[in-house]
Amino acid sequence: MPDLSCLFCRIVQRTLPAQIVTEDDELLAFKDINPQAPTHLLIIPKRHLATVSELTAESAPLMAKGMLLADRLAKQAGIAESGYRVVINCGAGAGQSVFHIHLHLLGGRLMRWPPG
Ligand code: AMP
Ligand code: ZN
Repeated sequence: MPDLSCLFCRIVQRTLPAQIVTEDDELLAFKDINPQAPTHLLIIPKRHLATVSELTAESAPLMAKGMLLADRLAKQAGIAESGYRVVINCGAGAGQSVFHIHLHLLGGRLMRWPPG
């Protein structure tokens, strides 16, 4: 069920504007509002799942599909060859601020390690 107090559910429902890049039946990709790299997209399942810790064997394939979409979008954006990063923050202590699971696709600049 969509949770209309959830920012990303509202983007899925189109009640909150976003720069949507692509979508299919299960996934939506849009530009991060506060980009941390020249390319910074968010890929979300349309159904509300709060964190990685909520995934089950039934819902986990959505994340594999999200990875495939991340690579496709990286290739489209021209950042696949130079390298890109896919990040999932799980929990506030890891930096998660929106509790609707999302993959960050970041690229277009040198990525350092370890992350902050
Ligand atoms: P996280 O900190 O991993 O939960 O990531 C949440 C991300 O969502 C941050 O990078 C924010 O900049 C981004 N964000 C928050 N609100 C919006 C919004 N309305 N549209 C697009 N991106 C957003
Ligand atoms: Zn949600």
